[in-house]
Amino acid sequence: MRAWRVTRPGPIGSAAPLWFGEEPVPVPGAGELLVRVLCCGVCRTDLHVVEGDLPVHRRGVTPGHEVVAEVVSVPDGYGGAAVGDRVGIPWLRQTCGVCRYCLRGAENLCPRSGYTGWDADGGYAEFATVPAGYALPLPAGYSDEELAPLLCAGVIGYHALVRAELPENGVLGIYGFGGSAHLTAQIALARGARVHVMTRDPAARELASALGAASVQGAADAPPEPLDSAILFAPVGELVLPAMAALDAGGTLAIAGIHLTDIPALNYQRHLFRERQIRSVTSNTRAQAREFLTLAQRYPLRVSAHRYPLERADRALLDLSLGRFDGAAVLVP
Ligand SMILES: [Zn+2]
Ligand SMILES: [Zn+2]
Repeated sequence: MRAWRVTRPGPIGSAAPLWFGEEPVPVPGAGELLVRVLCCGVCRTDLHVVEGDLPVHRRGVTPGHEVVAEVVSVPDGYGGAAVGDRVGIPWLRQTCGVCRYCLRGAENLCPRSGYTGWDADGGYAEFATVPAGYALPLPAGYSDEELAPLLCAGVIGYHALVRAELPENGVLGIYGFGGSAHLTAQIALARGARVHVMTRDPAARELASALGAASVQGAADAPPEPLDSAILFAPVGELVLPAMAALDAGGTLAIAGIHLTDIPALNYQRHLFRERQIRSVTSNTRAQAREFLTLAQRYPLRVSAHRYPLERADRALLDLSLGRFDGAAVLVP
């Protein structure tokens, strides 16, 4: 099969950090499904793995954790998906099931968790494996390419929305408007929120307006009204300051990324006082993923997916790093 591997983590635009070539189809381990990849979304976390912002967990890993796939083989006695079914492989791939986080329903915080495309090979390939209990059922009514971005961008955005504690019919600010943000905005709008979008990218601004944002302005500009909740999707620590300043008293900012540049010094009065809060977001639980995919079934989401052939994964990552498209990129073998 054809597959990509991260051989020398470094800037995507300079010396090639990635290898692409032929290799054997992976052999599923005990309790794993073997799947044929139908497509795989390109997430900013892949860029962090490729560029070395995240430490190497597996040498020469195949990136990709928004995998829409067809089941090729299942473990003996497995009662879930059958051969030929369409399943999703997300970022969260393994948890211990016995630690205090797992036991209280916060498996996203499990210290022994493992991740697709970081600890184990992911979907920038023609075939992949996944522990059967971590494959996700997929909603109907979407094409393969529309489903891929839902699996991480959609699920993590949903988790961020939950962490931001948006009140009923509240006012939400979204900072950065890419793959995750454009899906999260639609869930918030479908549930009655007023959404203000802050982004530097003209194409993303157009998409935000088309989806029903109440206002759209520059990345660090003030929204036209105080925010009950805000989500920072752009991996830019400087934006924490304007986002905190834009919060109403008691408001919450959730930072959705796995990696963020340094946050400049906060001013207590201007950024935090009056019970404003900052929260981080770490992966998601399987229960949240299923909850989001059920919502995606109820509220048909418009997914802006840009198709790249598998062999152009390097180009897709470069375009992502340069903000050359709105919405999400999807690799198709
Ligand atoms: Zn655990
Ligand atoms: Zn992701």
